[in-house]
Amino acid sequence: MAAKPFSARITRVACGVVLAAALLAAHASFAAVPVRVDGRRVLAHPGATVGETAAERLTAARGDLVAASDRRVLIRGAGEGPRVLRNGVPASTSDVVRPGDDIRVLRGKDVIEKTVERLETIPVPTEVTGKGALLTLAAPGMAGVARVVTGAVSGDVVASETVRPAEPMVLKRVIDTRRKKVALTFDDGPWPRQTEAIARILESEGVPATFFVIGKQVKAHPDIVRGLVQAGHVVGNHTYQHVDLSTSDGRRLASEIAETNRAIRAATGVTPRWIRPPGGAIDADAYEAAARQHLRVVLWTVDPQDWRRGKTAAQIEAEVVRATTPGAVILLHDGGGDRSQTIAALPGIIRQLRARGYEFVPLADLGVVKAAW
Ligand SMILES: [Zn+2]
Repeated sequence: MAAKPFSARITRVACGVVLAAALLAAHASFAAVPVRVDGRRVLAHPGATVGETAAERLTAARGDLVAASDRRVLIRGAGEGPRVLRNGVPASTSDVVRPGDDIRVLRGKDVIEKTVERLETIPVPTEVTGKGALLTLAAPGMAGVARVVTGAVSGDVVASETVRPAEPMVLKRVIDTRRKKVALTFDDGPWPRQTEAIARILESEGVPATFFVIGKQVKAHPDIVRGLVQAGHVVGNHTYQHVDLSTSDGRRLASEIAETNRAIRAATGVTPRWIRPPGGAIDADAYEAAARQHLRVVLWTVDPQDWRRGKTAAQIEAEVVRATTPGAVILLHDGGGDRSQTIAALPGIIRQLRARGYEFVPLADLGVVKAAW
């Protein structure tokens, strides 16, 4: 029986040690580690790393990816990672924090995007000289070359230099002023009733004319266009949808011209030889596209602006007569709106110019086309 109290004491002591150890362990696992992150007090978990403790600041302090041209931010946080100081000494994010640590997060550097360099074509500029209606090619021009540096992410042009300058295509407007010949041209048709009314006047006066027709209208009124050709007039191309050829891209250019040629051929069996760009807008690309489809470009020398609202027949007639010189190409309109004033002015224009010794001829007989076909 003497051994019993002894063993009971042993058991009590053992229990006390286990309890103390357990309490210590519990204390150790729950005690927070006080540190400062950029001056702010933070209680870190024991064993936490610098990276874990300052995680929010580390994300916010990443540098950005910026544009090479103006340093604007392209991708936030895509620059260099931040640097960390612990107690003033560079630290790794995997270091374990110790009580009283003063952690400072220094913003990462911005990274400038990479740049790419490439050679680019400088398009052929267009130079139009002279005062006649018919365009001829005086110089073909040559595309230039530029070296261009752009931002790989932004696409901004950072720098560019001309390696070889472009040479302009020179289009010369020619006119043969030796004889008193003039050509009448009508744009923006066919236009029901108006085109026929003009054709009747021309027929009764025995005057030939050229009609620059819009492709989609030819498709809608092929019979009117056929009638013009049967009456001996010339039909020219005025694009399919009356577009500005100088601002159309290459494909559009080609199709606007080709579709119109197709519509005219389908309606009349005749392939046009002339094109008048809407608005007279022509550049090197448009000229080349026309030339590839065997079309001569013709503008005008006399423009009474008969389409203007309020323009009277008397004004149209007076302006045409005053502006006409030998070799002139007169621009009038049979379509695009009410052309009753143009129709009313036409007989007077014909009689007055004839009285001054002018002869009306087709475009091809103006004397400036030298066996182009
Ligand atoms: Zn037009």
